[in-house]
Amino acid sequence: MLKKPRNIVLHDTNVTITFKNVKHVRYKATPDGLQVNAPNSLSLKTVTDILENSWTRIDKALQHSKNNTVLKPESAPTEMLLEGKLLKIVNKPGVLNISINKTTIEIYAPENQHAFALNYFIQNRLWEKLNPLIEKWSRILNVTPSSRQIKPLTYAWAHAKKETGALVFNQSLIHVNPQLLEYVVLHELAHLIEPNHGKKFYEIVSRNMPDYRSCELGLKSFSF
Ligand SMILES: [Zn+2]
Repeated sequence: MLKKPRNIVLHDTNVTITFKNVKHVRYKATPDGLQVNAPNSLSLKTVTDILENSWTRIDKALQHSKNNTVLKPESAPTEMLLEGKLLKIVNKPGVLNISINKTTIEIYAPENQHAFALNYFIQNRLWEKLNPLIEKWSRILNVTPSSRQIKPLTYAWAHAKKETGALVFNQSLIHVNPQLLEYVVLHELAHLIEPNHGKKFYEIVSRNMPDYRSCELGLKSFSF
């Protein structure tokens, strides 16, 4: 019989330990804490000791997961990853206006309008970055997208339909750095030639961006 899952706190972090028929202790860092799968044969004390011994590495994973979490639309964030840089968000009363410097995004808006203002800013900013990249890679790959949209997607960074030429980009792309954004555009436009992730598809991608694998890894490090 499997032991009951346990919730403990280690170094101010919520740790959920689930006992399973597995061989090794495995953990996953999430913005809400640490999810651990442990062999059912181990005691809670042994599992805790194992985690304590790896804490330096775990702590790094936890920090990474916090920094790379995409913004939920309903949240009132105090910081945001903007194009790969973590910026503080300061909400101020005033007429709708947004100013950005090296460390801060200042949002001026009437009361209760700051989330709306931020969303508006994100959409505009993302279009500014996306449109020139779509033009550039359409030209290079000789494809013609029929439509383009930005939406909050929960399952992918973007998708493209070869039959219709329609492109949809995830609003969360506002968080990724310019290189990753460019890769997403190239990837989607390549789908207008090759719909599947087959050999031909990756030939197109790697010919145009030899370093594409590091971009794929970079994109995978985000949690939705
Ligand atoms: Zn794809």
